[in-house]
Amino acid sequence: MANPTTSLSESLAHSDAPYIVFSDFDGTITTEDSNDAATDNLGFGLEKRRALNLDILNGVKTFRDAFREMIDSVAANKTFDETKEYLKNKIKLDPGFKVFFEWCKAHNVPVVIISSGMVPIIRAIMENLVGVEDASKIDIVANDVEYKPDGSWTIKFRHPESGFGHDKSRSTGPYRDLPHKPTLFFCGDGVSDLSAARAADLLFVKVIPNHTNDLKVHCDREKIPYLPFEQFLQVKETVADVIEGRNTIEKLLQ
Ligand SMILES: [Mg+2]
Repeated sequence: MANPTTSLSESLAHSDAPYIVFSDFDGTITTEDSNDAATDNLGFGLEKRRALNLDILNGVKTFRDAFREMIDSVAANKTFDETKEYLKNKIKLDPGFKVFFEWCKAHNVPVVIISSGMVPIIRAIMENLVGVEDASKIDIVANDVEYKPDGSWTIKFRHPESGFGHDKSRSTGPYRDLPHKPTLFFCGDGVSDLSAARAADLLFVKVIPNHTNDLKVHCDREKIPYLPFEQFLQVKETVADVIEGRNTIEKLLQ
């Protein structure tokens, strides 16, 4: 839906909603990162992926360029449909997500996925996990797939000029400037979520015991306020408390 009050080139969905929940996909809505799973099992494998992750951390390569190398290693071995089918069967949902999404649906709270992955893969995984009808009600703001003339495929970045490929801050930031100041929630687990999370009034950070929990480590270090969660039932309880007036974001972050 286009919003006439902004001059943005990218129109904002749900621009009149009073509350919006944004969420990262990989490792937040799902229990495992689908791009890592594809690279490790169908592409050049875990060791090379880890080396590229270090290159990103050390500033040797941009996320965009390293991520394309990972995806292209998958594309060298598998068609896009084979990759999609593999991930559809492999990736599992956070055990509380369905209950959370049912609550959001019943209370007209939009749920928007903000991801560095590719829209058709995320859609296929979501259709498999929550059903085609419910999946169609979840907006997916992510990268896309590009089919080359020779029949092979690669990732098509949403913001190819950005080193992030998908600059998540550009997908959530404009909601901050809406005249009615909607209340924005964001759920994430990785450092790449931080730029998107800056727009949020309340940040939920997924924290899994004995896991790397990159976003938690970063927020603790930078003293960025957040609420930890292990599964989406906790997000549902807190979002409901805020929207139904039993608690406030100020009190929750004290
Ligand atoms: Mg993630």
